[in-house]
Amino acid sequence: MIEVSTHSDPTRLAHCRSILEGAGIACFIRNEETHDLIAGLPDPLRQPSLCVTDDADAARARELLREIEGAETSDKPDWKCPQCGETVPGNFGSCWKCDALRPAQP
Ligand SMILES: [Zn+2]
Repeated sequence: MIEVSTHSDPTRLAHCRSILEGAGIACFIRNEETHDLIAGLPDPLRQPSLCVTDDADAARARELLREIEGAETSDKPDWKCPQCGETVPGNFGSCWKCDALRPAQP
């Protein structure tokens, strides 16, 4: 087991996990359940982290995560989902949370 990503937002990690799983990489989120209990108490050791089950997948997982980060830093502006109100990265054609389609640009 190797940790490939850490983020204070478990929703974000869940998004990364679904992408890794889609690529056939077995992974899980550590500390997901404890997050709410420690909310407000900054403890980097207990932040939720994304781990791959098989160490051999770690390099490929990090590569995929880098692609996600790269895509998110594109110059397309974030948009707000009209259905659930979630902020969605500009390169996404639909909401990552509820799958609502991106609204037409003004
Ligand atoms: Zn949504």
